[in-house]
Order: sequence, then structure tokens, then C-alpha cells
Amino acid sequence: MTTLAVLSLAATAVYVAACVWWPYAACRRCSGTGKRRSPSGRAWRPCGRCDGTGRRVRAGRYLAELFRSDR
Ligand SMILES: [Zn+2]
Repeated sequence: MTTLAVLSLAATAVYVAACVWWPYAACRRCSGTGKRRSPSGRAWRPCGRCDGTGRRVRAGRYLAELFRSDR
């Protein structure tokens, strides 16, 4: 049981560190391109989910920002 607690703690620490160093992940809808292809594949428009940036803030980073603004 202690091993499990240590492991989950380590996993959390790694995830938090990753969210600090890599705060953005690729947008899931456009897979990081920032563009949405039309069904024909020839036309595109900016992705509405990420506003054409192609990135999304990771959940861990979002929580960290919330926590930081409290101080
Ligand atoms: Zn997108």
C-alpha cells in the first residue's frame, strides 16, 4: 500500500512538472493545426475550439493558474 501511495505521488509530481514545462497540448479537434478542413479537403477555416492557435491549455496548467490567482 505504501508503494502504491509513493508511486501515485511520483506520477502526480511528474504530471505537474510536465504541465509547468509544457503548458499547451495540441488542440484535439484540429490536432494542433489551428485549421478545420472542409469535407472536400480543399477549403479550411480557423478552428473554433482553439481560435486558430492549434493549442489548448492542459488541465493541470489550468488548475495551476486558478491556484496561483488565489494568492
Ligand atoms: Zn483547434
